[in-house]
Amino acid sequence: TRYKPICVMHFAAFAYVGESVTDPSKYYGNNITGSLSLLDAMRRNGVDTIVFSSTCATYGDHDGVVLDENTPQQPLNAYGASKRAIEDMLKDFGASDGLSSVIFRYFNVAGADPDGEVGEFHQPETHLVPLILDAIDGKRPALTIHGTDYPTPDGTCIRDYVHVMDLVDAHVLGLRHLLDGKVARGAHEVFCLGTGNGFSVREVIDQSGHVTNRPVPVSEGPRRAGDAVKLVSGSEKAVAVLGWNPARSTMPQMIRDAWRWQDGVARQLHGQAAAQRV
Ligand code: UDP
Repeated sequence: TRYKPICVMHFAAFAYVGESVTDPSKYYGNNITGSLSLLDAMRRNGVDTIVFSSTCATYGDHDGVVLDENTPQQPLNAYGASKRAIEDMLKDFGASDGLSSVIFRYFNVAGADPDGEVGEFHQPETHLVPLILDAIDGKRPALTIHGTDYPTPDGTCIRDYVHVMDLVDAHVLGLRHLLDGKVARGAHEVFCLGTGNGFSVREVIDQSGHVTNRPVPVSEGPRRAGDAVKLVSGSEKAVAVLGWNPARSTMPQMIRDAWRWQDGVARQLHGQAAAQRV
């Protein structure tokens, strides 16, 4: 064989919280069996290190406390449950085969490549920041707030948003950590990737209006099934152990970078998608 991989970064999964509640089979089926196939292939080929994308959706509700790597996982939806199951698989393959893993529990990822060349484009789009920017841009009539009666100061859910470029940095640091032998053979190391700052849905809407200097059309709707009230992380461990510095993860910077992307390439993609539907 021409290539001899030394480590795998495993990002692939279905990742819509709401859909995972209505169609859990899709989530258990794809996320778990897909990961199992990958781990088996790694085992067959003697690849024994992996960086895995897990999620704050594995935590569920914890009365608003700041979450960290030791907080018990009690997912509220099949997406989070499938990711927790894969974390368990990594631990079990560690014990059986000496697999060493770095597990990143991402909080809410936002932003785009600052040059505006690479960004997120989901069909359908379900994520808050791109949907707000679509509403600002007139691509949708309004942003619907999913639930305004949560036990938070303004009644909307609170999340911890992290810039995708900071997430990229974390992966390079995690890879180095593994390849430098900092994770013992068969062991796993979990890192929460958030900033420790929580923003409510209404706060993200307000800041998006400020950054783009445009009004945000908003409507209020019911809660979305599977949503935790508040998911905010301490990132002390990633900072201390990996030397991670999530410097781009301020809300205005994430919105600015996402807007540059949405205003450019994403608009062309929307145009192409619309043309294909005709
Ligand atoms: N949200 C919302 N309206 C939308 C999309 C999302 O109010 O159209 C809320 C959602 O209920 C959650 C937060 O925004 O509280 C972030 O949702 P998103 O889907 O972006 O990420 P998730 O938390 O599911 O990973």
